[in-house]
Amino acid sequence: MTADLDDRLVRARAAAAAAGLDALLITPGAGLRYLTGYDAKPLERLTCLVLPVEGTATLLVPALERPAALASGAGSLRLDILPWQETDDAVALAAGLLPDARRVGLDDQMWAEKALRFRAAMPAAEQVAARAVMSSLRARKSADEVGLLREAAAAIDRVHARMGEWLRAGRTEAEVGRDIAAAIIAEGHESVDFVIVAAGPNGASPHHETSDRVIAAGDPVVVDIGGTTAAGYCSDSTRTYAVGSPSAEFRTAYEALRAAQEAAVAQVRPGVTAESVDAAARDVLVAAGLGEYFIHRTGHGIGLETHEDPYIIAGNTTPLEPGMAFSVEPGFYLAGRYGARIEDIVVTTEDGVEALNRRPRDLMIMDT
Ligand code: ZN
Ligand code: ZN
Repeated sequence: MTADLDDRLVRARAAAAAAGLDALLITPGAGLRYLTGYDAKPLERLTCLVLPVEGTATLLVPALERPAALASGAGSLRLDILPWQETDDAVALAAGLLPDARRVGLDDQMWAEKALRFRAAMPAAEQVAARAVMSSLRARKSADEVGLLREAAAAIDRVHARMGEWLRAGRTEAEVGRDIAAAIIAEGHESVDFVIVAAGPNGASPHHETSDRVIAAGDPVVVDIGGTTAAGYCSDSTRTYAVGSPSAEFRTAYEALRAAQEAAVAQVRPGVTAESVDAAARDVLVAAGLGEYFIHRTGHGIGLETHEDPYIIAGNTTPLEPGMAFSVEPGFYLAGRYGARIEDIVVTTEDGVEALNRRPRDLMIMDT
């Protein structure tokens, strides 16, 4: 893994140089973890990777965080770990490492307070978002990363496979959600990121979480769940269930959704645009008269974060490349009535697509 991380630092420098930057300033978050393996907490005290396109890379850390930084393995990379003391001006120290920088890329998730202090400390340098540089690296997953996403997907599939243990009429969404959350951990995640159990009309709110609504016979139930594994990679998968028999109208709409999701997955291959995958799903739902109820983009990239580049949305003309991993999750949402969504994580391969989530995509009918 260390060789992989050293390679990421090399590639980040090259990508920054190609973007006309003199350096990257990367603060705690997925970007720092990607480049150094260090899953640092975002704190008021500055932790920052100062990565010039040439010269020494420095991980500036509060002195009291130095043991944690070393324990992360960052100390075995080709970078200096520089601890700063409580009364030091850490931003001035970081800025002082880049005396000649004219254009620096700031981590997208750097707190505004720190970004503003960097601006003041480096008056001769232009600050721009590091997103384009970082996403050009992170969006194309290595084989190792695809393996870690595959493990995360298998773990969340095991949770969906157990839904019959929990989901039935007479229980509340919250009760079912608590059981699911425990299973997300038990089946191989380190943390629970979200649990959506949206029964009946609650299914019409795509980001409903859980409520005290008692699940009733005939309810469609949207279950969208995800967690993060110990390696830091995220899972995210939705299946729509029905407790007892849903209406014929719902079943018809669901079949269109299933066709839309399949069409979008089938569209994925190197060279096609992200927006064409969105269009493949949308066209099917429009033809079925459900277009106006598909109120969100078709998907989002996934990796060390649940939502990252590439976004599968109209207007994103990014061509897909091997290693790009993202969700394909069309849905329909009829206010006051019901909703449905089917979501798989897929990876663009050399010549097509691999679906990481393998659970059946049929409407799953649960006993009442
Ligand atoms: Zn989801
Ligand atoms: Zn998703």
